[in-house]
Order: sequence, then structure tokens, then C-alpha cells
Amino acid sequence: MAISTRNDSLLTRSAAAVWHPCTQMKQHETLPLVPIARGDGVWLYDFDGRRYLDAISSWWVNLFGHANPDINAALIAQLGKLEHVILAGFTHEPVVELSEQLSALTGGKLGHCFYGSDGASAVEIALKMSFHYWRNGGKPQKCGFVSLANSYHGETLGALSVTDVALFKDIYAPLLRHSAQVPSPDWRLANHGETPREYAERCAEELERHLEQHHAETAALIVEPLVQGATGMAMYDAEYLRRARALCDRFDVHLIADEIMIGCGRSGTFFAHEQAGIAPDFLCLSKGITGGYLPLSVVMATDKVYAAFYDDSVARGFLHSHSYTGNALACRAALATLEIFRRDKVIEGNQEKAAYLNRAARELARHPRVKNFRHTGMIWAFEIDADDSTLARRFYQAALEHELLLRPIGNTVYFMPPYVISESEMDMLVTRTLEIINAL
Ligand SMILES: *Cc1c(COP(=O)(O)O)cnc(C)c1O
Repeated sequence: MAISTRNDSLLTRSAAAVWHPCTQMKQHETLPLVPIARGDGVWLYDFDGRRYLDAISSWWVNLFGHANPDINAALIAQLGKLEHVILAGFTHEPVVELSEQLSALTGGKLGHCFYGSDGASAVEIALKMSFHYWRNGGKPQKCGFVSLANSYHGETLGALSVTDVALFKDIYAPLLRHSAQVPSPDWRLANHGETPREYAERCAEELERHLEQHHAETAALIVEPLVQGATGMAMYDAEYLRRARALCDRFDVHLIADEIMIGCGRSGTFFAHEQAGIAPDFLCLSKGITGGYLPLSVVMATDKVYAAFYDDSVARGFLHSHSYTGNALACRAALATLEIFRRDKVIEGNQEKAAYLNRAARELARHPRVKNFRHTGMIWAFEIDADDSTLARRFYQAALEHELLLRPIGNTVYFMPPYVISESEMDMLVTRTLEIINAL
């Protein structure tokens, strides 16, 4: 592979000066970094014009393509007015407008927005708020959390405490606070002959047993609604969420919906929890909220939660902050993103795109080496039937050679493309994935 000096020098300098995320840096002795000069729609380009279809939306953040003209224009206009201002004691138009629009999208059920800078900080905020709510209500013993087996909620210490992915968690176990895990309703774990719904109901019974015993010391249940992303796109029946909501109500436990990955249309509805006809007490959003442009996260809370902090006592307030809380540029990018949803009727359009990709992927789904082909909204996933611990890396490299950015998780290959992907690009994604599988 001939690489230009510009590509080449960026690779060398990056490997020398940048500590890349989620990476054993030594692997870059043999696996070259991929230099990116620019993006356009679903495509990423290096300095030689080599291109890659961003089939994972740059770690699940991009919704409407790279260098999106509408989001660009909104940001340029905002830059001329206000880049950032402290949000303690001060306010600004983008943050107010965004909070109002997000609340309206929940039908007013979640009336207040608290801002952070990334997904993990949103999870920290939700956990702290839930604990503090019960404390303000005279129940300080409610300080434990329960999450689903194989869940992922981020990498900071509090978020990692409710995460259940061994690769990320085990090393840091001595630093973490204990949390409880209940069985995941992931339908791949169902018994033979058991439907995803039946399995979800069985898992909800386990949750019931757990809460019966532990509700007095449990503040909240935190879940990734419908799809557990980082464990490998585990999908489950919405019935689990309905039952979880009812159990949380019965046992006086908060329900935190971590929609950092699955929110903003990824599930097929704007919020994933809508598909269960429920509302959580806390909703965490990040990733796609700015269309993949800028770091921003938000924790939405019910008016009931908000009211529990509203008091003459300072200490009963939520004294949590991040320097860039409610950044004006990030909020503007989020508003431009919401505007595209409305203007282009994105949720409806995505249904057609998903139906197209499902048709295009028929052969892939039936391939003898493909197992558990599954789909929720704008996410597709399947396992490659192979006993090979290097599969993810080999697949990633082969994909790059086929102009695709795909990052399998273990043996799980998934597609999570930007919503602007065209039919011909979907065809290409599927055809080339088949070529890669056949050549493995
Ligand atoms: C990505 C993710 C997070 C963490 O978000 P960061 O911005 O990476 O800190 C939390 N929860 C879920 C479900 C995620 O997918």
C-alpha cells in the first residue's frame, strides 16, 4: 500500500505523541493508524484520496454525515455570537432552546435538563442525582445501584462501577464501588424454544426477586434500553422495559435510561424507551445529540426529581458542575441536529432505509458463517462463526482494504451507519462485508 509522505508523517507523529483511546499502543507497531484528512457524508478521506465508508458513525456519534452543511452553517453563525459562557448564574439562548425542545420530545415527562460533556459524565450525574434525591427524601440508605449483566455505561469510576464488561472493568475492580447485576434480557441467551418476549419476562422475574430483597438499599436501576451496545449489540424485547418500569414504581427505585448510544433515532424511534410506552426517571443522552460534532451530554429528569432539590438549603441542591456545562456551540449543533430530524422527517425516512438494508442483507443473514443476524432501528449485528481471537482485528483490517470502517466487537460485526447513507452505499456495505467474510 503506497502511502504519501503526508499520510506517513502524520502516522508516525501520531503514534509518537498521541495516546490513542481503547488501544494497546504497541499494536500500532504492526497495525498502521489511519490518517484522515477530511470527511464528506458517510465518507472519510486520507491525504491520498483513499476513502472509507464510516459504517460505525465514528464510534456511534455521527447522524447526518461528516461536514454536514446545515450543522456547519449553524455553528459558523453561533461562532459569530457566543462560543461559550459559564452556565452557573448565566444562561443563553441555545441551552434554553435545546432544553425546551428535548423536554417537548419527552412529551413534557422529563422537564429539566442538566448538562455534561460526555456520556460517562452523564451517567455519573444520573447516579449522583438519584442517590441525592433519596437522601433529600430522608432515605440515605438507598445508595446502591443495579444494572444488567453485560451492560456498558462508560469508563469513569462511577460509570464503570455499573458497567459489566470484564475487559474494561476487571483491572480497575479495586477502585470501584460494588453494584449488583441482574440477568440481561439479550435474546441470544434465551433457552431453546423460548421467544425473546418470554425470555425478557423471565429476566424481569429475576429483577423482581432482586428488588424484593434489596429495594431498601437500592437507589436506581440503570439500563441501556433495547440494545446493549458495547458488549456486542445485544438486543432485547421492549417488554423487559415495561416490566422494569412497573417494578421500579412498586419498589420505589429510580429507572435510569442510558440512551447515550441508542437515543436520537438510533432505535427507530427518537427515544428507545418510547417503544415500551414508558418514561424513565432519568434519561442520559450524548453521542448523536450534536450530530457527532461536539462533546455534549444531558441528563433529563422528571419535575418530581427536580422538586426534591429545590430548597432554601444550598446542600440540598445538586452541586455538580463541569467547566463546559451547556457549551453554546455544542447546544447549537444539537439544535441544528434536531432541526434536521424535523425538516427531513428522519424517523420515517430511516424506516425505509432500514427496510432497504434488510432486503439487501438477505444473503448475508443466511450466510453459513453468519449467526444471530439481528436488527433494531439503524443498527445491524451478527456473529461470525469462527473460533479465532484475532478475528476482530483481521476483520477490521480487511474492511479498511474494502473501503469500510468496521470495528467488530469480538466475533460480533455490526453496522451503525450515519442516517444519510444512500441505497447504493448500503449495497456496497453489504456486498463488501460478504466479500470479507468469504475471504476470511
Ligand atoms: C458510549 C456510551 C457511554 C459513555 O459515553 P462517553 O461519551 O464515551 O463517555 C455510556 N453509555 C453508553 C450506553 C454508551 O454507549
